[in-house]
Amino acid sequence: MRQDVKQLLVVEDDSQIAAIVRDYLDAAGFAVRIAANGDAALAIARTDRPDAVILDLGLPGRDGLDVLRELRRDGDTPVLILTARGEETDRVVGLELGADDYVVKPFSPKELVARVRAILRRVESRTGHAEIIRAGGVEIDVPRMKVTVNDRPVDLTASEFALLLALAREPGRVFTRLHLLDILRGVAFESYERAIDAHIKNLRRKIEPEDGPPRFIQTVYGVGYRFAEPAP
Ligand code: CA
Repeated sequence: MRQDVKQLLVVEDDSQIAAIVRDYLDAAGFAVRIAANGDAALAIARTDRPDAVILDLGLPGRDGLDVLRELRRDGDTPVLILTARGEETDRVVGLELGADDYVVKPFSPKELVARVRAILRRVESRTGHAEIIRAGGVEIDVPRMKVTVNDRPVDLTASEFALLLALAREPGRVFTRLHLLDILRGVAFESYERAIDAHIKNLRRKIEPEDGPPRFIQTVYGVGYRFAEPAP
């Protein structure tokens, strides 16, 4: 069995910031490894299988978004991205690529620790209890984080999975984009409503029929989304 101490990988080329982040996470009871560039980060991620990755997007050489893309190709390790103020496009792209949360520099180390804990809690609550949801051909094996549509397996990112799960658990219920943001990150920012739309678009591409209107995830115009209710 895996030891109880959560392993974190911090990817940050600024050694001062990396040291501060490590000290705070260390004090919070995490085991921390630091990588100063993208290649080192991917090597560590593949061998150590950390519980979560804290990823600076501004890296020399292979940039943070590229590292994120590679991490997502390898699996769904939770990723929290660090960005500088004014790099909103990078943040949105990062969330679209499947990052679980972000923190804007300069950040409070305490806030960073809180965000990391929240991400890990979400992962644990997803895997905590045996639950299988079946709705209109979509089957969600919650603890295994496996989704099939008409018995065809679908690969989802952690964020897409969380959104689909929330929607499919309560067919018919309308969720606002802000509510869905809450589900993803615990913190709602209006400017990220567009990121929700991008996640939903990706989800639909993966689970909806290729032709015609969406069968499962319906748009509620001006509000948000809902999972289709079963036909009476
Ligand atoms: Ca940097």
